[in-house]
Amino acid sequence: MKVVVLVGGVGGARFLLGLKVALGLPAVGAAGTTHERHEITAVVNTGDDIWLHGLRVCPDLDTCMYTLGGGIDDERGWGRAAETWEVKAELARYGTDQDWFGLGDRDLATHLIRTRMLRAGHPLSEVTATLCDRWRPGVRLLPATDDRCETYVVVSGAPTDSSPGSRAMHFQEWWIRYRAALPATEFVPVGVPHPEPAPGVREAIAEADAVLIAPSNPVVSIGSMLAVPGIHPALRDAAARVVGLSPLIGGRAVRGMAEACLATIGVPCDAGALARHYGARTSGGILDGWLVHTGDHATVPGIEVHEVPLLMTDPVTTAAMARAALNLAGLSV
Ligand code: GDP
Ligand code: CA
Repeated sequence: MKVVVLVGGVGGARFLLGLKVALGLPAVGAAGTTHERHEITAVVNTGDDIWLHGLRVCPDLDTCMYTLGGGIDDERGWGRAAETWEVKAELARYGTDQDWFGLGDRDLATHLIRTRMLRAGHPLSEVTATLCDRWRPGVRLLPATDDRCETYVVVSGAPTDSSPGSRAMHFQEWWIRYRAALPATEFVPVGVPHPEPAPGVREAIAEADAVLIAPSNPVVSIGSMLAVPGIHPALRDAAARVVGLSPLIGGRAVRGMAEACLATIGVPCDAGALARHYGARTSGGILDGWLVHTGDHATVPGIEVHEVPLLMTDPVTTAAMARAALNLAGLSV
């Protein structure tokens, strides 16, 4: 069975743990040869990627890689377990900018290797595969694109900024430094003029038996990938059914600040409204099926909506969500 999942960082990675369990794979790490009949490909958001201190940092790819490979800090949900912060403290002593980003000492090794390989001319998809030789996440992690295509936020003035009018800042700065509290008017992709899906992305979607949209941030994780030309049409044309899981429960994001992102693009913070935003495949959108949390009633024309518990408390509970999604996609597991 071939399953493709579009994922962001923490929400996406936790969902992948459950999906692996649902397919009889170990949640963490790679399986032996007996499980090769199931293949999971995760298409991972790269809109959060950023250059910091000359290093290429890919937060969502790393969250997935560390989570599935057993190296994540479970409590934070991102970064390395047993992390230390000596370099970050030293940088702060220099009074450097970009001090708001959590660059851990262990984590830095990943960014050093990635940057060195990128500078030697290897595309991000190849670099990711090399990093995964160490972590053995048990799923194929594909960056949405190898091209620079970073999410920027247009804001109407920052607290430290006395000049009136709007300006754009990297999504990470808006999200981490300003905790998404600066009024934003728009998200825009910044990078190469014509980004393309990374090698393998379109093929994986075309050949999949089921395509799932993880309960990830609908705007800056899923939306940033849909903004890469070629990905939306690939979903629309997939032979398999496409099923999404709502990251919103009871009209709120389960964790994080997705509300501020939805408000920016004018979509109500509600599971039904979000499914309408993604749209039914029968009318040019991306969804055949949509899972909402038990009690979150939603009726969306052209989309089959089922209610199931959607709280990812642990991989076994999450596996039930994944099974429900695969069933709605027409697969029996
Ligand atoms: P990020 O890149 O680290 O922000 O991670 P994602 O974009 O993959 O996931 C963030 C989203 O996950 C948030 O919008 C949350 O609403 C959603 N989320 C987190 N935990 C849960 C959960 O237990 N259940 C559901 N349904 N959504 C969740
Ligand atoms: Ca992210």
